[in-house]
Amino acid sequence: MDIADIKVIEHDVIVLGAGGAGLRAAIECSMNGLSTGLVCKSLLGKAHTVMAEGGIAASLGNADDRDHWKIHFRDTMRGGKFLNNWRMAELHAKHAPERVRELEEWGAVFDRTKTGFINQRNFGGHRYPRLAHVGDRTGLEIIRTLQDHGIHQGIDVYMECTGLDLLKDDDRISGMVAMWRDSGEFIIFHCKAIILATGGGGKAWKITSNSWEYTGDGYGMAYEAGAELMDMEFTQFHPTGMVWPPSIRGALVTEAVRGEGGILINSEKNQFMYDNIPDRFSAETADTKEEAARWLSGDKDARRPPELLTRDVVARAIRKEVEAGRGSPHGGAFLDIASRRRPEDIKRKLPSMYHQFKVLAELDITKNAMEVGPTLHYFMGGVRVDADSQMTNVPGLFACGECAAGVHGANRLGGNSLSDLLVCGKLAGSGAVNYIQTISGRPKLNDDQAKKVVRSATNILNRDHGENPYLIHEDLQELMQNNVGIVRTDELLSEGIKGILALWDNFNNVKADGASQFNPGWHQAISLRNLLVTSEAVARAARMREESRGAHSRIDFEGERDEWLQYNIILKKSSSGTMSAEKILRDKPDPELERIAKLSIEELEAEVRHDKLQD
Ligand SMILES: Cc1cc2nc3c(=O)[nH]c(=O)nc-3n(C[C@H](O)[C@H](O)[C@H](O)COP(=O)(O)OP(=O)(O)OC[C@H]3O[C@@H](n4cnc5c(N)ncnc54)[C@H](O)[C@@H]3O)c2cc1C
Repeated sequence: MDIADIKVIEHDVIVLGAGGAGLRAAIECSMNGLSTGLVCKSLLGKAHTVMAEGGIAASLGNADDRDHWKIHFRDTMRGGKFLNNWRMAELHAKHAPERVRELEEWGAVFDRTKTGFINQRNFGGHRYPRLAHVGDRTGLEIIRTLQDHGIHQGIDVYMECTGLDLLKDDDRISGMVAMWRDSGEFIIFHCKAIILATGGGGKAWKITSNSWEYTGDGYGMAYEAGAELMDMEFTQFHPTGMVWPPSIRGALVTEAVRGEGGILINSEKNQFMYDNIPDRFSAETADTKEEAARWLSGDKDARRPPELLTRDVVARAIRKEVEAGRGSPHGGAFLDIASRRRPEDIKRKLPSMYHQFKVLAELDITKNAMEVGPTLHYFMGGVRVDADSQMTNVPGLFACGECAAGVHGANRLGGNSLSDLLVCGKLAGSGAVNYIQTISGRPKLNDDQAKKVVRSATNILNRDHGENPYLIHEDLQELMQNNVGIVRTDELLSEGIKGILALWDNFNNVKADGASQFNPGWHQAISLRNLLVTSEAVARAARMREESRGAHSRIDFEGERDEWLQYNIILKKSSSGTMSAEKILRDKPDPELERIAKLSIEELEAEVRHDKLQD
């Protein structure tokens, strides 16, 4: 193999991933005069962001004028069980409204209030109706808008092109080796900075709402390049995935169903969420059906129904019902919107859900209750970055969106991902612009590094015999589902880690049949490295954190433990090549932010009223 035969493309910055985060980052870079390449492994517009249904959270205050960034910030910190990076959560809550209005200026058409403003709906953990939406197809509108805007900024797009590994000149970023998915040809991007926006890694589990693209590539690539992963134990199991039929088990049932009034019932017709209200949320949650009904009909003094508690709470409650033998026939709970809303309203507000159940499960949700259960949905952890610039510990390497850690702490509120993508995507873009202004000269490409990347990809094709990539993936999914699932123990996790290490051995001898062109088996085999890094990081961090907080539930260490609130867990590649996990002390919170997050809701609402009068 001669590395000189591989085409080299030069840019100032490469953005890897064309979901909301990558597109917003690329727009920022391009607007600031950088030559920007946007690389994605599927077609432009097909990223995970397009699947987003319920909406984007921002304290616009259109549906309830009591809303304010401080209340959004407080909700986010409490939802994240105070493990969020304080500064990131602050930036997120403060900048989200501006980012949504900017989208509107760029052409996004959101649903409107009667008076013509962007409409906002209720979602779990948000004090007020806060999610700007387009029916239940919000992601499509967002990605279409960003895509149109981005293309006109002069961004160069490389579609169906998989990033394999990063290249460095000494300690700083100098480029990336990638491959075209159709021809299997390699390509080298030579650049000064790289922004990872590759999303999460849900495909490590058997039951997931995630698509084929979510194989943790950003985590794997960052880790191999010497960046740190943080708080990977916090993997969100969305409470409502489809449980039947088996072929689509895990497909998401948007939280918007509960936001529009949907209720959860067990096989004994009991609305069991009333028995599962945690102390932290009891003052803000309705404790009678009568109060919940008043809330649904718009009574501002009524408290929110318990179905809209945070996702970790609802997912565990459903699991508890199933374990107690009170589940639905296929191992979930019933979600009923039919008895709560008129058929025409359901079809108008939840068109995708109506269609999804009709086509995939032959069920009419305007007449019958759905069967739902937890599904692996989202990574709160990810690549560790600086809050303001989104840069990692590797100079020139940035991360944003679901790929990065920090905004959401131990549990993400619905709608807060889409706002995170826009806020942090923009920050990552300006971070890269500032970084590039400070460096002298173009970092050099290192041929030997590039050769190594190409060789490890081609070895998979060139071996005479080896392990089947699909079987390794299946074994990994089974293991993660059973051992690193919604409920964890030291024993389960230790067995899980042992299993993952054994799968690493299989991966080192993986073999894909066929040639390099149009070879899905080869692509699957290549993605296994990243799936294994991701899985090992989640399992090791989960074993280390000896408490239950947010989405991380240890039945051998129940409840939140104050001492663990002081720590983040950092995973990185050690000099011996193995993964190290260590707990590091978190920075002390800014006193003003801590004050806001810990005020009672009544006190904060009074303060916000006062602030608004002063404005
Ligand atoms: C069904 C569903 C509904 C959701 N609904 C909501 C909602 O209503 N509100 C909300 O806030 N959140 C929602 N979420 C979560 C949210 O959609 C995601 O967290 C978010 O879209 C992630 O955006 P991103 O830009 O980080 O990554 P993505 O949108 O997934 O984009 C990742 C990009 O990286 C590319 N990529 C990955 N690996 C490579 C590689 N090796 N080489 C090249 N390219 C690569 C992919 O091709 C893709 O372009 C939902 C998620 C799902 C699955």
